[in-house]
Amino acid sequence: MHASEIESDLTKVLVTEEQIDAKLEELGRTIDTDYAGKDLLLVGVLKGAVMVMADLSRHLGHNVEMDWMAVSSYGASTKSSGVVQIRKDLDTDIAGRHVLIVEDIIDSGLTLSWLLDNFASRGAASVEVCALLRKPDAAKVTIDCKYVGFDIPSDFVVGYGLDFAERYRNLRDVAVLAPHIYSEE
Ligand code: 5GP
Ligand code: MG
Ligand code: MG
Repeated sequence: MHASEIESDLTKVLVTEEQIDAKLEELGRTIDTDYAGKDLLLVGVLKGAVMVMADLSRHLGHNVEMDWMAVSSYGASTKSSGVVQIRKDLDTDIAGRHVLIVEDIIDSGLTLSWLLDNFASRGAASVEVCALLRKPDAAKVTIDCKYVGFDIPSDFVVGYGLDFAERYRNLRDVAVLAPHIYSEE
């Protein structure tokens, strides 16, 4: 997708490709230090975390394992309900493993809080979270997110893996979607 094709759909760019890369490099160094001498399993939450996983993992000196999970949360509104269903489970037995969940964004935090409980019940040695983006609402639930890229306002954002109706995931920056896109639906 060329930038020109997509620009008119966006209100503003919130985080640029360059800012994301610099932040993931920094987080990668911290994660390498924190997990020194330990085996690390990265678990990406499909589909939004695909880009974060690809870029963060390549900033690591660690020879990590990767696995993926797909979940969906159900509710009456577009807001996360906290009732989570597993669409695709892990292929890995995480008992005794050091797990780092890789996420695109924490909004209400309900999905992640469910995942953290679920992983703890499978007997992981440790479970931490790395999220590229975090919205203010996340402060309302007790999520211990050890690695956060950027705190952003509550606007609905797209790009760098984040979609609106499955589109805009391949935008290189993170941007706010223009209201006229919503009202077309
Ligand atoms: P939570 O359970 O934290 O409210 O919801 C997390 C999930 O909702 C994210 O993983 C993401 O898929 C979706 N989400 C939350 N905020 C946004 C947003 O601003 N843009 C997009 N595209 N998805 C979002
Ligand atoms: Mg996600
Ligand atoms: Mg989505």
